[in-house]
Amino acid sequence: MKINNPKPIAWQFSRRAQQLQSSVIREILKVTMRPEIISFAGGLPSPETFPIERMKEAFDTVLSRQGKVALQYGPTDGYGPLREWIAQSLSTPDNRIAMEQVLMVSGSQQALDLLGKVLIDEGSKVLVETPSYLGALQAFSVYQPEFVSVPTDDDGLLPREVEKIADGARLLYALPNFQNPTGRTMPVERRLQLVETCARLGLPLIEDDPYGALSYRNEPLPKMVAMNPDGVIYMGSFSKVLTPGIRLGYVVAPVPLIRKLEQAKQAADLHTSQLTQMVVYETIKDGFLSQHIPSIRTLYANQCQAMLDAMQEFFPAGVTWNKPEGGMFIWVKLPTHIDSMQLLEEAIEHHVAFVPGAPFYANEPEKNTLRLSFVTVPPAKIREGVEKLAKLIAAKMK
Ligand code: PMP
Repeated sequence: MKINNPKPIAWQFSRRAQQLQSSVIREILKVTMRPEIISFAGGLPSPETFPIERMKEAFDTVLSRQGKVALQYGPTDGYGPLREWIAQSLSTPDNRIAMEQVLMVSGSQQALDLLGKVLIDEGSKVLVETPSYLGALQAFSVYQPEFVSVPTDDDGLLPREVEKIADGARLLYALPNFQNPTGRTMPVERRLQLVETCARLGLPLIEDDPYGALSYRNEPLPKMVAMNPDGVIYMGSFSKVLTPGIRLGYVVAPVPLIRKLEQAKQAADLHTSQLTQMVVYETIKDGFLSQHIPSIRTLYANQCQAMLDAMQEFFPAGVTWNKPEGGMFIWVKLPTHIDSMQLLEEAIEHHVAFVPGAPFYANEPEKNTLRLSFVTVPPAKIREGVEKLAKLIAAKMK
């Protein structure tokens, strides 16, 4: 039943598709999966934290009690009880979030794509942090914006710089908690200044917050969405507090935007897996996260400390790094003459890996930067890996 000699197809990709590139990080990850490599490259949460038994029970409960609903098509905006749970968990005494403001998505990465689809035209000015989350740059770039990098300091975005360059911009994309890639946190006063600035300019502010719950010491800082729910688009995710494999995230935004995102989502994939949403709701509805999240924080805080200690011990003078207060990443600055992309090639030969910093910059990259993740490597291996890396850096400084 197979035809003979079909004419070979010369694939003519759309202009949009011609722009697509594989993430440098995903390419690096392929190499660093080799077991002999100590990899600080991954952005993956630690599988030690996945609540497998709890979720097994939740799958069983959902399938036996509500199997016909769980396995059916569902509404585009998501599973009602879970949306309500999210609305409540984000509500503050002076700001009630309604379920209608919540859209469930297939991982918060999908929210980035949908936001790009409904807010960005070719040439639209989009403001991003310097540096920013590579996956967002990738998602938005499909819609061919003009990225403008907003200057930052150790506390994140500088509101007065936003003000200088915001004219005509469609949105500002911000990562206030334990930023990917730098691990830095925006203090409360800065959040307030930023929200005020955007509100004054009428500039939509995206608050991408997958790591917010993973604060090591303090209670999580106030969210920007609570400071101005009419102008802030909040993105949350279950990837870092439960598991990323379930692909479940959410957007909280003013209703007119949610309606438009819902139309875009309908066209993209009809709806997020109903089974997944019901299982997550079953898993968390009785307060499970309030016991589970502290165990993730403790694990990551210990491994972060192991990495900071090793860096202090082995890294040569002239190398600097930040001390994260939560999340999964440490950002390193090497002397300016060292290109971390070249360093990576040597590092892989010596069985240690990291992610070079350059791909995280929308405009001019700082090639002497790199991102280290400590969450999937046990402390003894962290020490060994940092020592190896330090030797390679020191050799380049001679
Ligand atoms: N935003 C940021 C800042 C991230 O680091 C990630 C995951 N690495 C995402 C969004 C996407 O997360 P998910 O799709 O798993 O919810």
